[in-house]
Amino acid sequence: MGLLERHEWYDLARETNWTPVFVTEDDLFPPEMSGGFGLPMKEWESYDEPYKVSYREYVGIQREKDSGAYSVKAALQRSKYYETADPAYLSLLKMHYGMMAVNEYQTAFAMARMARFGKAPGMRNMATFGVLDECRHGQIQLSFPHQLVSLDRQFDWTHRAHQTDNWSVVAANHANEDVMLTRDAVTTSIMLNFAFETGLTNVQMIGLSADAANMGDYTFSNLITSIQSDESRHAQIATPLIEILLRNGRKQEVQQIVDVAFWRVWRTFVLLTGVPMDYWFPLEKRDQSFKEYMHEFVNVQFAEQLQDAGLDLPWYWDHFLGEIETAHHTAQAVFWSWRDSVFWNPTGGVGPEERAWLEEKYPGWNAAYGPFWDMVAENVAGGNEHLTQAIGMPALCTTCQTAIAGPGARVRQIEREGRRHNFCSPVCEWIFGLEPARYADFDSIVDRLYNGVIDPPTPENLLAYMGIGVISEGGGDAHDYAWARERTREGALG
Ligand code: FE
Ligand code: FE
Repeated sequence: MGLLERHEWYDLARETNWTPVFVTEDDLFPPEMSGGFGLPMKEWESYDEPYKVSYREYVGIQREKDSGAYSVKAALQRSKYYETADPAYLSLLKMHYGMMAVNEYQTAFAMARMARFGKAPGMRNMATFGVLDECRHGQIQLSFPHQLVSLDRQFDWTHRAHQTDNWSVVAANHANEDVMLTRDAVTTSIMLNFAFETGLTNVQMIGLSADAANMGDYTFSNLITSIQSDESRHAQIATPLIEILLRNGRKQEVQQIVDVAFWRVWRTFVLLTGVPMDYWFPLEKRDQSFKEYMHEFVNVQFAEQLQDAGLDLPWYWDHFLGEIETAHHTAQAVFWSWRDSVFWNPTGGVGPEERAWLEEKYPGWNAAYGPFWDMVAENVAGGNEHLTQAIGMPALCTTCQTAIAGPGARVRQIEREGRRHNFCSPVCEWIFGLEPARYADFDSIVDRLYNGVIDPPTPENLLAYMGIGVISEGGGDAHDYAWARERTREGALG
């Protein structure tokens, strides 16, 4: 008996919707979980997924991917790459794994919500594979760094970061929970699959994987590529949803969903991708600057994808393009100054050659950020490293939970129901204003210093509260200030 070709049975097998008779449609698909947008079921049933795959095909392909990635790892394990790797590069890995591994499991929950509550049968199909994808991403990113824990205790954060209240994790999770875990299935898909995965993961995955290959870390480079191949498939879940909603006159709602999610994810990308790309990779291994990647993948490619989908650029695009030039430079200074509060060792990484490169890529960098790093170098030269270590917590934005800092930064404040909220930017303030109840009651790490949660609110206890000295020691300068000494040796300082 011959097997049918996939296209001969797929559409028929996919139509798994039925008309409920014992319960109402809203009982079966509660609007707060499903996000029906008031459209009739017929509309959702018109969903035609751009990427069709059967379970048998899926499992075959995934098995190949996994065995590819694991065998590269096994082959390279003997080369002792990580034993001698640049400590600043290892910092990138520690941060990446700590932020991403368990987050991928959370993404499986987001996909599961679509798989159960999506009203479109094709969406449920694709999302079911998405759940399996994200489980794989969680597992592989927990498995790979496990061997590194014995080498360096900071790698233990891969598994444990998400169980802590480390400020960096709180900031990333706040955004992730907002876009992935606390919205209806349709909104989740537009936020996660379109704004996050289509909009920004390319830069992370393609950029980081190219840079990792330049570093000779083929294990990580392969891992990332393997994950990205899943992302680029399931990222397409949202496109037919956007089509359906736009056809039914819901452009304004869709646009707002995209604008909110893109911004929330952007603010974490600054930390996770922008900083390591332009500061932690050795100069000769950098492929392109973060700004160049952002222009290529976001300002050009994502802008085209928005247009193809019938959407506009987010209203804050000019502000966003401005941040591409600045936000990660500020984040680098924050990470480095508060280095004892994170679970990796950031490098300052701004010796004379790096500064020349930064000035070339970001004209005006020296004028804006040079004085800060000059002061650091002077302190290091004078034997006053301790003066370069920030204590406590910087002011945090109510929406993105990251530091409100940078040249010319001004806190935007509002008073609401007896509570003052601080914002880093007009966009974070706008997002808060759309749904204040969603955000207003969250206590930032700074709030917790004042409301008795971190008790006593001493610098030592704050660090312990954030897991520092508990899971591993916090960070120090990855290169033991060599870059700062290089600068003073050159006589660059008066
Ligand atoms: Fe993933
Ligand atoms: Fe913010």
